[in-house]
Amino acid sequence: MDVLAALTRRLGADRVLGPTDAAPVLSGAYFHEVRQRRPAAVVRPATFDDVRAALGVLADFGAPATVLGGGHGPRCVADGAVCLDLRSIPCEASAEGEAVRINGSGRVADLLAAAPEGRVVPVGVTDSPGMGLLTTGGVGGLSRSLGLSIDSLRSVDLLLADGQPLTVTAQSPAELWWAVRGGAARLGVVRFATFATHPVPEVTETQILARADVLAAWAAAAPSAPRTASLSWMLSPATDGSEPLALIDELSAGRDPGLARAVVPVGQRMRERTWRHRYRDFADVNVPVCSWYGPPAVADLRMRRIAPLLSGTRMPQVLEEVIRHVRNSPTPWCRVEVQHIGGAVGDVAEHDSAFSGRDAEYAVMAAGAWRAESPVQARAIAWVEELDDILAPARVGRYLTEVEAGLPGLADRVREGVHWLARHPEWPLGAALLIVLLRPGRALRWASFGLQGYALYRRAQRVMARPLPPAR
Ligand SMILES: Cc1cc2nc3c(=O)[nH]c(=O)nc-3n(C[C@H](O)[C@H](O)[C@H](O)COP(=O)(O)OP(=O)(O)OC[C@H]3O[C@@H](n4cnc5c(N)ncnc54)[C@H](O)[C@@H]3O)c2cc1C
Repeated sequence: MDVLAALTRRLGADRVLGPTDAAPVLSGAYFHEVRQRRPAAVVRPATFDDVRAALGVLADFGAPATVLGGGHGPRCVADGAVCLDLRSIPCEASAEGEAVRINGSGRVADLLAAAPEGRVVPVGVTDSPGMGLLTTGGVGGLSRSLGLSIDSLRSVDLLLADGQPLTVTAQSPAELWWAVRGGAARLGVVRFATFATHPVPEVTETQILARADVLAAWAAAAPSAPRTASLSWMLSPATDGSEPLALIDELSAGRDPGLARAVVPVGQRMRERTWRHRYRDFADVNVPVCSWYGPPAVADLRMRRIAPLLSGTRMPQVLEEVIRHVRNSPTPWCRVEVQHIGGAVGDVAEHDSAFSGRDAEYAVMAAGAWRAESPVQARAIAWVEELDDILAPARVGRYLTEVEAGLPGLADRVREGVHWLARHPEWPLGAALLIVLLRPGRALRWASFGLQGYALYRRAQRVMARPLPPAR
């Protein structure tokens, strides 16, 4: 019996979809490339007992699996792995005193809706992501005053890979408590999580659209902003070829400090609005703004994203080059978004949680984006990789939600090195020329080894491609 048959037998045919039936279910995932993947099966559990049963089967077969929560990340579906789609489990979220308990299929909107009146959990800038955001970080407008979402975690109730339950709190062994705050989604399936809430009756938000040159004043003002205010921006290329457009967003947990207006003089404001909201009505916040600049997103948009965390002191050094780079974007959908953090995020010591980059002042989310099958794909990918190089002098960490596979380590550094060499071919060519000039004999020997190695590789490829003899 294979894993698909075993899952079907354990959970019922209506709960397990084979690879050919998976596509319509995956259409709810946010990213185009995720919707295109081909999982071995999609399990649509009705309860977390079903999840536990499925994990037992997967462990017996040693089958790889992914978890699909809110569907906003790049890793929730993988080719050839079984996808546990938690969206089929109804969300449960309720207040417990001043805390909120939410199950693993819940989203940011459910968490905020369940919080007691006048209290919030700091989250991101939209309300549709799920447990991936809430347990990996949660970077948003209240990060400076209240910290990340994971800093409000009080307990996490997990199902481990073999289906065994485990509850982790501040009283658990220190390594586990460290790991769940930033890495819960890598330890097991989050069945429930409990978050502390904080009193924030209303927030004041100001958004101003201007040309990119106002960002120099922003860089001077942001580091000294009070902790209750967050001065973020988004930058995108102008469709008419003029200076890129910057959308400055100031979110204040207290009275409006007027920072955004101080940064952008009246004559330079192309659009502007200030309003108070309950930090729950995110559709109100985001929808009008999206129509302010750039072409609308299209359904087949593809992206390569990076999410570095940057130091405050080094930002002015790289800002001008970032603007120049956005001016030369290969498509109008390329974006750089800088979320102002610092403040309370840095109150937690670097090694106290699995979120690395606590001393960052800014969290960047940047994307090189192109339409499917577009000839500019390679340029859009190179664009975002070059941007990563530009930001490197200011980088103090990376936000794990955008790291594709495994933890950034040696493999990532090797990959970065290879990309750098591909973009700067003058260095390897120069080095080769130097060796030829200074040590011609050695250069000849190395060239001959290289040719022999290549011939061996081609032979191995031919052998591997040969059809196997029929079994007797
Ligand atoms: C439009 C958009 C806006 C965003 N805005 C912000 C923002 O303001 N602030 C911010 O910090 N981030 C933001 N992000 C990034 C977001 O935090 C990550 O993409 C996050 O991983 C999404 O979590 P998810 O559950 O929605 O997605 P998924 O792709 O379903 O999950 C992400 C990861 O978490 C795992 N996971 C999900 N649920 C569970 C569970 N119950 N148990 C175990 N593992 C689970 C998945 O396996 C996957 O590895 C945004 C992303 C998008 C696309």
